Amino acid sequence: MTAVNLLELDREALAAFCEQLGEKPFRATQLFRWIHQRGASDFDDMTDLAKSLRQKLAGRACIAPMGVVSEQASADGTIKWLFDVGGGNAVETVFIPEDDRGTLCVSSQAGCAVGCRFCSTGHQGFSRNLSTGEIIAQLWFAEHQLRKRFNSPEGQRVGLTDDKRVITNVVMMGMGEPLQNYSALVPALRMMLDDHGYGLSRRRVTVSTSGVVPMIERLRDDCPVALAVSLHAPNDALRNDLVPLNRKYPLHELLAACRSYLAAAPRDFITFEYCMLDGVNDTDACAHELLALVAPHGVVHGREGVSGISCKFNLIPFNPFPASGLKRSPNERVMAFARILQDGGVVTTVRKTRGDDIDAACGQLAGEVQDRTRAHERMTRAPVQVHRIGSPAARAIEAGRAPESVAPHESEA
Ligand code: SAH
Ligand code: SF4
Repeated sequence: MTAVNLLELDREALAAFCEQLGEKPFRATQLFRWIHQRGASDFDDMTDLAKSLRQKLAGRACIAPMGVVSEQASADGTIKWLFDVGGGNAVETVFIPEDDRGTLCVSSQAGCAVGCRFCSTGHQGFSRNLSTGEIIAQLWFAEHQLRKRFNSPEGQRVGLTDDKRVITNVVMMGMGEPLQNYSALVPALRMMLDDHGYGLSRRRVTVSTSGVVPMIERLRDDCPVALAVSLHAPNDALRNDLVPLNRKYPLHELLAACRSYLAAAPRDFITFEYCMLDGVNDTDACAHELLALVAPHGVVHGREGVSGISCKFNLIPFNPFPASGLKRSPNERVMAFARILQDGGVVTTVRKTRGDDIDAACGQLAGEVQDRTRAHERMTRAPVQVHRIGSPAARAIEAGRAPESVAPHESEA
């Protein structure tokens, strides 16, 4: 019998598992708290569980995190981990500390099938969905690893203590399209929100999507959290080119889904992400077209009144990579574009780039993916480029061997 990895189970599923072992539901809550609140990975450490239960668990279950291939720390405090997900694939997770919060950027897939032109994950193609356990293991590892570090004498010197939560916000903005991995995503979100788990509020957990319309509607009903939609273009013609999924779910459908999401959303606005591409989507005309799209009486392809949506814009400076053939908009252009949106009454922010020195910024999360979709053959515009980190383990993955897991501090900087 293979042992069940308990990181895969949300509290409800853990209760069902405990029931199979002849245990009461409150045991599942105790176990869940040991795993997610205290970071335990050994049943022997769970001292308030009966020895008989610990023995039962030892034979049938395990708490199996993912192996760390490498860790890189940026001068600005950003930390990027590369996790081995087997089969020659690896995914990336990024911790971004700020004065008032700690944000973890989490991956949902090895690669991505959407294939946006400006995204290096998209250029790699799709390998596979991550499981619930692989999604939550990123948070489990980062939270408890960082807590331990901050609880060191050095951490205490700067005022961090063990009981302080390190990660206060999660954004599903790493590798992959979360809404194309819906069935694994939702239990992982529930574990993030669970008071016996990570206890994050719905407003502090954000799902970012390129616009999988039917799944936006399901998320509204199943597990409404903050929603970010990667818009990147003010009309279908340009969006079809930049975000190929738009051909399936055009703008008027996407905006309608956003509006209906707001009825259940924990925030009263949708965040629209907009990656600023020099000479492609950054003109004054594009900004005015965007305003028309989101204004109450906007016109989308002749359908008057279908738009009008409570939103904020987040302009993302493009992180260039050679295979994209695209360039970052100059700062003055970004500011001028932001001004037009703001003057039109739409709250607009420009994203700070973080972790630039370790390629930890948006869209640079390339990880290591064995492309099963042959994206490079589909991407006719430019040759594919895979970013490699160059650690021994990453080189092993490159050579098609299974990498040995290494402790974070043993990996290269
Ligand atoms: N698949 C989801 C979430 C992962 S991408 C989505 O597309 O929303 C997270 C964000 O990074 C998206 O807004 C995406 O458009 C943006 N992004 C991707 N590549 C980028 C790049 N090279 N430069 C800047 N932002 C990028
Ligand atoms: Fe996939 Fe998002 Fe990248 Fe598009 S931007 S390819 S949806 S990860």
